[in-house]
Amino acid sequence: MASTDEQPFILIAEDEPNIASFAQMYLEAAGFRVEIAERGDDALDSIEKERPDLLLLDLNLPGVDGFEVTRRIRQGGGAMPILMLTARDDAVDKVVGLELGADDYVTKPFDPRELVARVRAVLRRADAPADVTDAATPPVLEVDDLRIEVGPREVFVKGDEVALTPKEFDLLTALVQARGIVLSREQLLEKVWGYTFLGDSRTIDVHVRQLRRKLGDACPIETVWGTGYKVPARR
Ligand code: CA
Repeated sequence: MASTDEQPFILIAEDEPNIASFAQMYLEAAGFRVEIAERGDDALDSIEKERPDLLLLDLNLPGVDGFEVTRRIRQGGGAMPILMLTARDDAVDKVVGLELGADDYVTKPFDPRELVARVRAVLRRADAPADVTDAATPPVLEVDDLRIEVGPREVFVKGDEVALTPKEFDLLTALVQARGIVLSREQLLEKVWGYTFLGDSRTIDVHVRQLRRKLGDACPIETVWGTGYKVPARR
């Protein structure tokens, strides 16, 4: 077991054995170390003790449900990537889960290649959370009352810090950097989530809604109907 240190460790919290072992089989074949927790409380114990690199989380779990698992991880300041497993027809679950701080979701039944691609993308982004910026990015970005400190990843409205999730920060920064240019949902998925294939644009819309809620009038993001989002060159 000498090589396990270098293998990313994924915890699957899923009470349906067929789904859990199906995901485990493909993730192990892709080079990940995988453990399964069948209950939410067991998942929380395992997270505490074993610090997985990523949590693949069913929402409807016995013990403590997936929403509560997400809430407790994020309330405790945990930044571990969380990929939700959701039912295909349950849009509300996806939105609530993303709002609680999950990074993304995969719908069941899932294509194992898509699952592996999403896991890799979420892990890649977690390793390099400031990927939306580069050497040419100024250390501070300002749009009227909004101030983004790129290095420490802090956001202020009229001098008061606003707590954003890593993805909210990246999305806001990507749009402010591209000021004056419309970015499509696909471009934003690729920039912020690292997908090179077509993802689900709902993820972007939920994050934009959260940014608007948290930043209020200082949120500079405009919807460009049928195209995407932009921060206008002048406000
Ligand atoms: Ca379940």
